Amino acid sequence: AAKAAGKSAYRICTPLLRESAVSRAELIADLRRAVDEGQLRLEFQPIVDLATGAVRSAEALVRWWHPRLGVLTPARFLPLAEEAGLILPIDRWVIHEACRAAATWRKRAPQATVAVNISAAHLRRPDLIATVTAATAAAGLAPRALTLELTESALIESSEAVLDRLGQLRELGIGIAIDDFGTGYSSLSYLHRIPATELKIDRSFVARLDSDDDRAYATVEMVTRLAGAFDLAVVAEGVETERQHAAVAAIGCPQGQGYLYGRPDVAAAVGQNRV
Ligand code: C2E
Ligand code: MG
Ligand code: MG
Ligand code: MG
Repeated sequence: AAKAAGKSAYRICTPLLRESAVSRAELIADLRRAVDEGQLRLEFQPIVDLATGAVRSAEALVRWWHPRLGVLTPARFLPLAEEAGLILPIDRWVIHEACRAAATWRKRAPQATVAVNISAAHLRRPDLIATVTAATAAAGLAPRALTLELTESALIESSEAVLDRLGQLRELGIGIAIDDFGTGYSSLSYLHRIPATELKIDRSFVARLDSDDDRAYATVEMVTRLAGAFDLAVVAEGVETERQHAAVAAIGCPQGQGYLYGRPDVAAAVGQNRV
């Protein structure tokens, strides 16, 4: 109840507070302290096995509980963090927290896994591997229970060094998901180069399944087949309606994520059944 009250209080006051011009410089200064002052929080959104309704996995999504502005979404502060060179401590905090959370889920749901978004800047850093292995070790989490989500735009510029790093992560057992698949430059040759384990079909395609859009349907179907042929897991993102769910299920996409199954929440639904 306290949480619900906190959330609605935030909804009432935030639009007003957002009007007050907070300069970018101020926000960056605040962001510099956010990690140390414990203002970041993770929410977890369920990823559902569409055949059984089981939630075996969840994606960690970061929020900033700003002392004056209320809860800020990643779109509001991650670009600033990137610019100001503050993305690494945030990414590191997220990886550590997500691993800790997944380790607790696995006490009741031994198959549970967690997905974490990794920024392009972090992917370029050789210490990504050290960060990830430190986080799994500290949490006592099996590396195979962790998937890193990377966007196509982050992957497209991938140098040999980055490909090498991804290969090392794979060897550790860590999953590599291509996020928002279909929105970047998804050439087929790049799918051969990236050692991915999973594709996440961007929600723009899923949204269009509502309007009998044959092309959207064909796109989701094609990516699902492609994933099958490449032996990759596949998740349809942004499932909001029963109709989208029915289409995604009819296509045979094995996993779904979206508001229909569950919104991001501080309490993860891993181990429960949705659908
Ligand atoms: P993403 O990785 O594609 O995450 C999915 C986003 O879609 C989330 O937004 C989620 O709340 C939203 N979403 C999920 N289901 C639905 C749905 O059914 N309908 C609609 N309209 N939206 C849905 P969020 O949390 O605002 O995150 C936005 C993006 O910010 C993420 O996109 C991801 O790229 C990035 N991000 C989030 N957390 C982190 C993080 O900890 N580190 C980094 N580096 N990036 C993050
Ligand atoms: Mg993601
Ligand atoms: Mg995504
Ligand atoms: Mg997306």
